[in-house]
Amino acid sequence: MTALIHILDAHSANQISAGEVVERPASVVKELVENSLDAGANHIDITVEGNGVPLIRVRDDGNGIGSEDLPLAVIRHATSKITQIEDLDQLRTLGFRGEALPSIASVSKLEISSRPADQPAGLSLTLNAGEQEEMKEIGCPAGTCVTVRDLFFNTPARLKFLKSTPTEFGLISDTVGRIALAHPDIAFSLTHPHQVVLQTSGRGDLREAIAAVLGHAIARQLIPVNVHHEKWHLQGFISPPSLVRSSRQAQYFMINGRIIRSPLLSRALAEGYHTLIPAKLHPIAVLHLSVPPSDYDVNVHPTKMDVRFKEEQELTLFIREAVYNTLIKSKPLPSIQTKA
Ligand code: ADP
Ligand code: MG
Repeated sequence: MTALIHILDAHSANQISAGEVVERPASVVKELVENSLDAGANHIDITVEGNGVPLIRVRDDGNGIGSEDLPLAVIRHATSKITQIEDLDQLRTLGFRGEALPSIASVSKLEISSRPADQPAGLSLTLNAGEQEEMKEIGCPAGTCVTVRDLFFNTPARLKFLKSTPTEFGLISDTVGRIALAHPDIAFSLTHPHQVVLQTSGRGDLREAIAAVLGHAIARQLIPVNVHHEKWHLQGFISPPSLVRSSRQAQYFMINGRIIRSPLLSRALAEGYHTLIPAKLHPIAVLHLSVPPSDYDVNVHPTKMDVRFKEEQELTLFIREAVYNTLIKSKPLPSIQTKA
């Protein structure tokens, strides 16, 4: 009898994991930019055409990838960031699953060119639906440039599920905005297609980054938060109770620089406002939480946007009090600043 069970070939395995990691063009942008951040980049430039399907390009001035490593970067479960599961407790990088590049490559035409600063020449690798097409030496600036063309060209079902160009590009620009708020010390630009639609200075001033993403009028009114607990630190900005939104869209939570979705933190924030805000309205918040990596688990979902906290109740209480005390202390509400 022949066995019925077999191991999937690499291409099929990559396409399946692409289904989880690469839901739409905005997810490609997120994964590529996170790689640039992990590579220690100071400048990250993103170029998008149309809804992201024709072209997404992310260029960085990070560490680059050495010539021996470049072919490995696009192989599944190949990562330079961890070697064993225990390393997750000390995780300081955004990536660790070694899935993004092979997943994206399996559903697009991908070109990755890179040069570490200490190497004289760069190397460029092109793949078509995950199959290596060409690898050649090239001249390029130090850093890495990944170009994704014809996203989902070989997965028509995915392509059909995409929304209109304004919607998909809106999601991309929202993603870049979130990442820029998570990293005010890094200069980002988003070009679509020949116009810069978002740009941050990378000077490290969070209020300035908020102005670039949410506008000056909002940035000016926000109240600074800076509260320490034994091992936790909450820092960022929240809106005065007079500045509210009908959705939680303008709430940004970052844990150790990682952007997360957290109903827990949203609720703690809302509770911090007590009755200062009418029901169904939501404050604006850009909050960075620093906690020891061993206090939470990011390996909950392939997109790594959900986290599980070990001490949920204590943390909720800490956030709620921090927000409440900040609001109380800020009375009377801050007048418009003329100088930062
Ligand atoms: P992960 O980020 O989980 O390690 P990826 O598939 O996203 O997996 O990337 C695989 C590897 O390729 C990374 O571990 C890293 O070594 C390298 N890499 C990817 N993008 C870049 C980049 N922009 N700069 C430097 N190295 C990169
Ligand atoms: Mg990655």
